[in-house]
Amino acid sequence: MSDAQHQQRQQRLKEKVDARIAQAQREQGILMIFTGNGKGKTTAAMGTATRAVGHHKKVGVVQFIKGTWENGERNLLEQAGVPFYVMETGFTWETQDKAADTQACLNTWQYALQLLNSPDYDLVVLDELTYMISFHYLPLEDVVAAITSRPDHQSVIITGRGCHRQLIELADTVTEMRPIKHAFDSGIKAQKGIDW
Ligand code: ATP
Ligand code: MG
Repeated sequence: MSDAQHQQRQQRLKEKVDARIAQAQREQGILMIFTGNGKGKTTAAMGTATRAVGHHKKVGVVQFIKGTWENGERNLLEQAGVPFYVMETGFTWETQDKAADTQACLNTWQYALQLLNSPDYDLVVLDELTYMISFHYLPLEDVVAAITSRPDHQSVIITGRGCHRQLIELADTVTEMRPIKHAFDSGIKAQKGIDW
């Protein structure tokens, strides 16, 4: 390709991008979903939270599944004034105690509702929420209602595999993390600072 052709192509691309930027002028909070089986859903959510905090935005994080590990992002973001509510009690993969798990989920959801109702919060992260819906711990309609009636300027992030179709339809930005490789599959242990 000649320099002139390259220059022409770049010019056309720039015109297209500029036109799209000119069109997207509405300011409002958005619903983002990070789903799929690949690694990066929670880290993308925490990266966005970090970005928002860096602009002095108010962020709240609710985590619907707690492993036995601490998490590095909580250590950092709590110091930066981000409240974390983690569903710790009554939920483990081992117990399979549906009643206790449902109760723990609903308690956690009550906290999430406070954030979703509060105009003080610019960004609310609902980490691993998708499983609460697929396990039927939390009614889908309640989640849809809370998200639809949140303050206009508030953005929300939902993470987790197998996100319900209705939430995907409701969302503004949806990214599916697709696994191409994962170190775990070749026998490398999960690592502090990389995996949690
Ligand atoms: P991360 O927290 O690293 O962004 P994630 O939120 O996309 O990952 P989850 O499904 O929440 O992934 O899984 C949590 C844990 O499982 C993390 O420690 C993550 O590194 C690991 N993990 C994620 N995807 C895979 C995969 N495809 N195979 C094995 N382990 C994975
Ligand atoms: Mg995750």
